[in-house]
Amino acid sequence: VKVLVFVEFSGTSVKKGALELLSAVSGQSNDVVAVALGPGSKALAGPLAGWGVKKLLALESDKLSTYNPELFASVLAGALKAEAPDLVLANSSLMARDLFPRVAARVQAGIASDCTGLSFEGGQVVVRKPLFSGKCSARVMFQNCKTSMVLMRSNQLPVGSPKGDGRPEVVEISLAPADVKTVATGRSQGSSTKLDLTEANIIVSGGRGMKGPEHFGLLDSLAQPMGATVGASRAVVDAGWVPHSMQVGQTGKTVAPSLYFAVGISGAIQHLAGMSGSKVIVAINKDPEAPIFQKSTYGIVGDAFEVLPQLTSEIAALTKN
Ligand SMILES: Cc1cc2nc3c(=O)[nH]c(=O)nc-3n(C[C@H](O)[C@H](O)[C@H](O)COP(=O)(O)OP(=O)(O)OC[C@H]3O[C@@H](n4cnc5c(N)ncnc54)[C@H](O)[C@@H]3O)c2cc1C
Repeated sequence: VKVLVFVEFSGTSVKKGALELLSAVSGQSNDVVAVALGPGSKALAGPLAGWGVKKLLALESDKLSTYNPELFASVLAGALKAEAPDLVLANSSLMARDLFPRVAARVQAGIASDCTGLSFEGGQVVVRKPLFSGKCSARVMFQNCKTSMVLMRSNQLPVGSPKGDGRPEVVEISLAPADVKTVATGRSQGSSTKLDLTEANIIVSGGRGMKGPEHFGLLDSLAQPMGATVGASRAVVDAGWVPHSMQVGQTGKTVAPSLYFAVGISGAIQHLAGMSGSKVIVAINKDPEAPIFQKSTYGIVGDAFEVLPQLTSEIAALTKN
């Protein structure tokens, strides 16, 4: 199977989600091509060494330093026409969810987004796609298309390790003139240096049980020694305690970290929709009947203001060694 993997990167490092995709397809007699767009893309040949990528299609242009849907779609559609892959894989990031439907329409590809499972059956790709906020899932196969596109949620596939040091051949692709109707004139970045919720391996989320924004520092203290990112329920976002970028759930971010702490969160279905794919869930709630306990791996019935400081000092002590 010829697979083209869209590699998102930050500076000189390849995002973990892209390594998950490469781990899923390399070493299975697949012919793997990676594509990366924007300044720094050529240099990814180094970090991609050993990940089974034969060829890296890169485009350095400054015009691609900020996501522009028209330019990105035009470049990718060109690359896809030239490479004619059977399968295109990308992470289900905000950018990819905007970009790939455009590309799919241009190259007449089939597309499945927000997938949580990926397998091959007799050379055919089969994906799992949650429906109705995760209440059930569909098994999806493609038909009547030469190219299938799959956007995978992060943290769903295991990351392997690089084998050997085989660097991909770098092929520069050109920026064909596109009919661009919008231009990004600036970019502002939030002050957070933490990983985005969708990429975090550990998340500590707080809900209305935290009583007020002034107490979110307790969550930061727990998160800090573990390198975790802090999230929130919608109730506290709506109350203006924290920004919407921190919201986990149906109308926020969908996350699937290895470890998820739900502190003072009741476990409403809309919250569960965004985090029930987490591998281990720890709930801290003073109400033993809170629905979150039905979904949690470990439950601590207690007052967050008593539990958090104890947990934080235990974890800080453990992570010191
Ligand atoms: C269309 C729609 C979309 C929605 N999308 C989302 C979404 O994306 N994300 C989301 O989160 N919600 C979403 N919601 C809202 C959702 O239904 C709930 O209202 C919300 O998740 C509740 O947030 P909470 O758990 O923080 O608050 P509550 O439900 O009020 O729960 C607070 C919890 O804190 C506990 N508690 C109180 N004090 C303490 C203490 N001292 N120590 C420990 N525990 C304590 C309580 O026992 C309680 O269980 C959506 C709703 C709708 C209708």
